[in-house]
Amino acid sequence: MTTPRVRFAPSPTGYLHVGGARTALFNWLHARQTGGTFILRMEDTDAARNTKESRETIFRGLRWLGLAPDEGPEEGGDLGPYSQSERGEIYAAAVADLRARGVVYPCFCTRERLAELRARQEAAKERYGYDRCCLGLDADEVTRKIDAGEAHTLRLRVPEGETVIDDLVRGEVKVAHADVEDIILVRADGAPVYNFVVVIDDHHMGVSCVLRGEDHLTNTFKQVILFKALGFDVPLYGHLPLILGPKGQGKLSKRKHPEAALEHYIDRGFHPEAVVNWLALIGWSLDDKTTILSRDELVQHFSLGRISKSGARLDLDKLEHLSGHYIREMDPAALADALVPFLAKAGHIAEDPNSQQRATVEHLAAAYRERLVAFSDVVAEAVWAFQPVTDYEGKASKNLVEKPTIPALLRDYADALPDPLPDPEAHEAHARAFVEERGMGFGQLVHPLRAAWTGRPGGPPLFDCAAILGRKEAHARLLQAATWSEENLPES
Ligand code: GLU
Repeated sequence: MTTPRVRFAPSPTGYLHVGGARTALFNWLHARQTGGTFILRMEDTDAARNTKESRETIFRGLRWLGLAPDEGPEEGGDLGPYSQSERGEIYAAAVADLRARGVVYPCFCTRERLAELRARQEAAKERYGYDRCCLGLDADEVTRKIDAGEAHTLRLRVPEGETVIDDLVRGEVKVAHADVEDIILVRADGAPVYNFVVVIDDHHMGVSCVLRGEDHLTNTFKQVILFKALGFDVPLYGHLPLILGPKGQGKLSKRKHPEAALEHYIDRGFHPEAVVNWLALIGWSLDDKTTILSRDELVQHFSLGRISKSGARLDLDKLEHLSGHYIREMDPAALADALVPFLAKAGHIAEDPNSQQRATVEHLAAAYRERLVAFSDVVAEAVWAFQPVTDYEGKASKNLVEKPTIPALLRDYADALPDPLPDPEAHEAHARAFVEERGMGFGQLVHPLRAAWTGRPGGPPLFDCAAILGRKEAHARLLQAATWSEENLPES
């Protein structure tokens, strides 16, 4: 038995859809589990719609998800090239082969005639399909028309009968050939159509198993008919369930749901392993309860047999839960590495942070590890660490004016602030001794301190915040808050 060869075959015409990312993942998992080969094929024949950016988006998305192809446009391989735009000669040879096999016939019907035919069939409530008008032409006439340079397409003559597919996900699915019109394989301008090149490529690249979205089922029927007409081995097929919007509503599109694009998750800074884990659970499950599955566990347990048939909802709460989990598992240095690009993009630090910035980010990583759902959240959460406090938010402002003694308390604490600042634990002990001496509760001190240092009512452990600011800044903010408190205390 040879090992499976699977492929992900995106068209680089826009963003990488989250459904495409899931297709890539399922194929990758199947390949990794079986010792097979994961191929990336760029389906870039539509010159008008392809873009270089889109191609880069696909490469970047796969890299981010850790789904490295074994063969592909960047990796190369023995059965390339792996971009359809570079396979023109292979397709030309395949067209010649088709003609030689006599499984196709030229069709000279004009667009107008086909439109009329369709209108007539529609009016008569008949099933739409090509009426094989050109199949009846005699050989001399065909030669004469071709010699005269009359534009024509090439149609596959679909044999009578039916096509039955034992789908790996959906079980037996079939189509009666009476419902499939003679498929155009080569357009009048000589360009081979999508369904044709896919079959040629899947055959040439030795693809043995095709896992792709359910929306391709009608293409699959045509492709299987074509595989058979060409005398090629038919791969196995598995159609993955449609991904529905977060509220269970219809098909996902970026226009309506930004979450349709993988970039959304990259930009937000969800942990990539969480996204892999989450994508795996869109239409697949290990059992009815396990949600956390590492990449290795997925490779070990993934099974085509447990892919569901019914549409799967995009559960964003589940992703947040998973991403928070994976972030909590990171060590602070790795989390700091992940936070740097987001903080740099926000202008808080340099892209290549200096040692002081690096120390701040590591400290933030340790302080926020338990609280982040996505890396980018640190930008808004920890803005106080990089910018002066200009505003005391909601409850924080209340905490500064609760008692007329607060300005004095903040100034006293500023005077008592140890120099240099000890580590957060020792600083906390110092603060506890400070309140004890004055016969106050700890809460009476920490709320105004937090407001002074961060401008906010909540956040990570307070004495970590002071350490992140450093003594000088922590001291200055105490005095600033004392002044603000004074100015804003209610008249007594
Ligand atoms: N290029 C097709 C698409 O992006 C996928 C083709 C396939 O998986 O066979 O929808």
